[in-house]
Amino acid sequence: MGYTHYWQFHNGTPIDEDTRRVCSKLKEAVEFAIKEGYDIAGYDGSGEPRLEEMKIGFNGRGDDHHETFLFHDPDGFNFCKTARKPYDAVVCLCLLVMKDSLGSGIRVSSDGDWDEWSEGRKLYKEFTGKDAPVPWVVQGQCPKCGSTSTINEYDNAWFCYECRNRFNGRE
Ligand SMILES: [Zn+2]
Repeated sequence: MGYTHYWQFHNGTPIDEDTRRVCSKLKEAVEFAIKEGYDIAGYDGSGEPRLEEMKIGFNGRGDDHHETFLFHDPDGFNFCKTARKPYDAVVCLCLLVMKDSLGSGIRVSSDGDWDEWSEGRKLYKEFTGKDAPVPWVVQGQCPKCGSTSTINEYDNAWFCYECRNRFNGRE
């Protein structure tokens, strides 16, 4: 399993109004990243990204492509394996923008820790003018190592970054 980001819509897929609103922001974000020099292509690593009213889809270009980033997938659970290729930063930017837009309606998690999001966070700051909030905002105490830190929550399982413990349930 390569380096992957995950997101899940809490109440099924976003309703049309949300989809339209998020797509509009994602379009701006991707266009900004392209202006900043990221080479963003269509689904298969060629052509142009799809920046549509109800769907956003893109990939890295050529050898720098991996899995397509797609908003929104009809299923509630989504993921994008970027293998840390350069377009990873743009995927992180999009996830941060989606979290901004949907709040508690979306749950974001990642194989990467916050440091590994540094390029995406920088892009987000340039795009929005503000520091990126940690999108997996759950702070909690790990039942195994006891550290209070960011705990990554998705699919009803929790993952502690300190001790790498995966466990079910909040406490
Ligand atoms: Zn722990």
